[in-house]
Amino acid sequence: MEGKINTQLFIMGLVSAVLVSIITLFMFFNTFQNQINADLKADAEIIAKSYEYLSENGDLQDFAESSIRITLIRSDGSVIFDSEKMSDENHIERDEIKNALENGEGYSVRRSSTTNINTYYYAIKLSNGNILRVAKDADALNSMFTSLLPYTIFVFLALLILSLAIGSILTKKIIKPITKLSESVDDIGSEIDDEDIYPELVPFITEIIAQKREIRYQLGKVEREKNKVAAIIQNMSEGMILLDLDKNVLLMNEATKKIFDVGEISLKHDSLLYISRDKDVNDCVDKALEGENSSIEIMLDGRIYQIIANPVASHGEQIGVICLIIDITEKKEIESMRQEFTANVSHELKTPLTSISGYAEMIEAGIVKEEDIKNFAGRIRKESARLLSLISDIILLSRLDDSQREEAVHKETVDLLGIAQKCADEISVQAEKQGVTVTVSGENCIMNGNITLLTELIQNLCDNAVRYNREKDGRVDITVGKNFIDVKDTGIGIPPEHRSRIFERFYRVDKSRSKERGGTGLGLAIVKHICELYNAKIELKSTENFGTEIKVIF
Ligand code: ADP
Repeated sequence: MEGKINTQLFIMGLVSAVLVSIITLFMFFNTFQNQINADLKADAEIIAKSYEYLSENGDLQDFAESSIRITLIRSDGSVIFDSEKMSDENHIERDEIKNALENGEGYSVRRSSTTNINTYYYAIKLSNGNILRVAKDADALNSMFTSLLPYTIFVFLALLILSLAIGSILTKKIIKPITKLSESVDDIGSEIDDEDIYPELVPFITEIIAQKREIRYQLGKVEREKNKVAAIIQNMSEGMILLDLDKNVLLMNEATKKIFDVGEISLKHDSLLYISRDKDVNDCVDKALEGENSSIEIMLDGRIYQIIANPVASHGEQIGVICLIIDITEKKEIESMRQEFTANVSHELKTPLTSISGYAEMIEAGIVKEEDIKNFAGRIRKESARLLSLISDIILLSRLDDSQREEAVHKETVDLLGIAQKCADEISVQAEKQGVTVTVSGENCIMNGNITLLTELIQNLCDNAVRYNREKDGRVDITVGKNFIDVKDTGIGIPPEHRSRIFERFYRVDKSRSKERGGTGLGLAIVKHICELYNAKIELKSTENFGTEIKVIF
């Protein structure tokens, strides 16, 4: 833009300089021409006046200077006298003579075809009717032009340089606010009051500033959104990879690096193979590249991951593939635990039911003797009781799975010492049968809780303490503290290798003893679940053939 304005101003300057030079020359020419005519006229008038007093025509020669030619012509056009060369030629047709005869004076300019010099003529009519003509060659004019030319060229160049300089300053001034637009908005803001700036440009600049601010604001917004998304992607626990159609990595988050144990990669240049050479992974991505959603499960470092690969499209055209890598280890474990639990439950339910149905079938078929029927009925009742307690434990466990809500857990104010006492009373008959003494000691432990769940917890601990106690002179000591309950027995103890697993559902150290004593294999799983609801910690100490101590700290 600056170049264009500069060129145009230069052309303008050049044209002006040429015009000024031509006009100046023309004016000079005119002035000098007039001056010559005036000089010729003045000369002619003086000579004419003087001529009246001259005795001879030849004296006219004295008036003729080197540059002035004097001619005396009769009214019929014949030459009487000529200061340069006498001519026989009739001058009546010459313009200046004709005019002089008609109007008393006449001017004319003629160019000599031989010398190529202009000659200026002035003719005046004398009182005797003759014509006095004075002539001057333009050669003098030419020399005058020659002497004027350097000045003219100087003026021309000065004008040109001046126009260039002014043009450049003007261009800068015009361009200045526009150039300022490329600078920061704040700078423009301060410049807008500058009196150098054309007022016509102010609305335009104001608009640009507003637009620039808007763009900056919108860009900032986009940048913030971008950063937010980038932060989410980088910090999400799932892995994420974005690939182009050539399987080059466009984006990869931190989780992916950890999962596949890869370092920094050069985005857009490293391919998926840099992250994983696993055929299944590559096949999964290939499928997505063909436009299909695909998913696989892979094992990495002992953990199970699900890779979901989906095609990414823009304006209806596929531009790449996005892969999500999700750690499904826990989900898989829970799934297999559920399956195991279902299988265990079916098995546990089937055993007593098979016995019950077997006894009933025998009675029905009349195989059982009359005196044995009572015994069989007792067995059926025992198996039914086991079934009932198993079912109630399963129901309780499934309820515990759902009852995560605060109000269900912290329902009322309870005293653990009171609950422990109640549980000890309930178990006393069974304990007595097994020769076990149950004691309760300690202080009141008042807390917010659900009395049913806390009773269940203490009951299960006490049941086990009695169930797995020694045959004779066993003891169960229940101690309640400010924030704990401790159940200590003098039983068979738990071998170290089983200690970490006894809280699993249906895990038993000695299956037959557990079943014989009415155990369901779910007691400690229920205890663990309730403790989790109260954020309570379980401490287990056990010595084989000596005893076990389980402490629950709230
Ligand atoms: P069960 O209904 O079989 O008692 P639990 O879940 O209550 O099931 O206990 C799991 C297993 O842990 C028991 O089968 C038993 O082998 C062991 N166990 C639990 N408590 C004691 C204890 N006080 N002394 C010895 N072994 C115990």
